[in-house]
Amino acid sequence: MDPSPCMDLSSGHAYWREKNGILANYPPLDEDVACDVAILGAGITGALIAEALSADGHEVIVLDGRDVATGSTSASTALLQYEVDTHLIDLIAQYGTDAARTAYLACHDAIDLLEERVVSLGLEACNFTRKDSVYLASRPRDVPVLRKEAEARRQAGIEVHEWSPSEIADHFSFQGHLALHSPQAAEVDAYRLAHGLLAELVRRGGKIFDRTRVTAVEIDAAGLILRTHRGGKVRAKRLVVAMGYETECLFDTAKLVTLHSSFALASEPLEEAPGWWRRCLLWETARPYFYLRGDADGRAIIGGEDLPFRNPAARDHLVPRKTKRLEKRFHDLFPQVRMESAFSWAGTFGETNDGLAYIGSYRKHSLCYFALGFGGNGVIYSVVAAEIIRAALRGKEHPWAVPFRFDR
Ligand SMILES: Cc1cc2nc3c(=O)[nH]c(=O)nc-3n(C[C@H](O)[C@H](O)[C@H](O)COP(=O)(O)OP(=O)(O)OC[C@H]3O[C@@H](n4cnc5c(N)ncnc54)[C@H](O)[C@@H]3O)c2cc1C
Repeated sequence: MDPSPCMDLSSGHAYWREKNGILANYPPLDEDVACDVAILGAGITGALIAEALSADGHEVIVLDGRDVATGSTSASTALLQYEVDTHLIDLIAQYGTDAARTAYLACHDAIDLLEERVVSLGLEACNFTRKDSVYLASRPRDVPVLRKEAEARRQAGIEVHEWSPSEIADHFSFQGHLALHSPQAAEVDAYRLAHGLLAELVRRGGKIFDRTRVTAVEIDAAGLILRTHRGGKVRAKRLVVAMGYETECLFDTAKLVTLHSSFALASEPLEEAPGWWRRCLLWETARPYFYLRGDADGRAIIGGEDLPFRNPAARDHLVPRKTKRLEKRFHDLFPQVRMESAFSWAGTFGETNDGLAYIGSYRKHSLCYFALGFGGNGVIYSVVAAEIIRAALRGKEHPWAVPFRFDR
């Protein structure tokens, strides 16, 4: 039987939390408080939005039902790519050239924006690192599609290189049909990044309450009231909903997203990685796709093997089997690399039909902004959401807003 959408779907063994421990605790909310903007959810999305809004002078309160950043943020493999799970050519067919290009270019520029923010706030501990990304044609029949995709990206002004089978062999230890090489990509420790942004919020006078679950959101003549399971209330003029895949527990968003389970592992540090060019980000056209990246410790972080969601216990039961399959795939690609798994885990993963995030206002929920950054680009969508919502609170529509609107 499928679980109720509101049972605890949190990741079984969240890598970043295991690796970094709990970096900071905040008090639970036991009294009534008030603010300009309440942010519901202290994952990477809530943290990026909180930092952006506090920089604009808003008085911000962030609430989370768990310890901060221990939802899907702590399970994320955090590849940062402008390449959305849906090809640009397919988005053009669905939404037209302008909207589709805007979606791709927003994600492209969001990588630069995130780097600027990491540097300006001194968040180097999150190990944001520029990387190359390589997208492989999994089957010969994907080659013409990838050629068209490369052309569409170039016409949008994105730098992308087509690598022939011989160029693939020059860079890697495996054979391939065609690959797209993108110099615009990065990797990050999403958990440390979220903690760093939240600490910055507190330095600016913002408040965070964790282990405080919001049970109801009400609207009255003065604004919004958030009720919590501990009895304390938050009164706010505006609400930003950054609850990730649990949004449907309080709002009518269930039809917008399909939940999957995804599996990942982190290896012991690799002294050498022959045949793995620059330890780049690597993914492929098959769906679900296999993907990997390196990290600052020299580990390989490997993921994929997604399954339609059943329940957290069954999902976690599959972790050993899925880990073996991910290990095999890695060894098939890089037979000279001696890779041993150190951590493996599963997490819940939300996907929209078109692969784009939902960001902005939604239906009758006045005074609320939603930031539902689902899919393989979730972290980059969170950066995009912070910009769009910051502009909305300044009374403007951000030029990136259109492809991410709920009524697109
Ligand atoms: C295995 C895996 C691999 C991934 N890999 C990548 C990747 O390589 N690149 C990428 O960009 N993205 C990736 N993603 C997706 C990315 O991790 C997510 O998009 C991102 O973490 C979502 O962040 P969030 O802050 O929106 O959600 P979350 O981190 O889930 O945060 C939501 C928060 O809301 C809180 N909350 C929920 N309900 C309530 C309530 N009622 N009251 C109070 N608090 C509440 C939760 O406790 C939680 O802390 C991956 C995800 C998984 C699971």
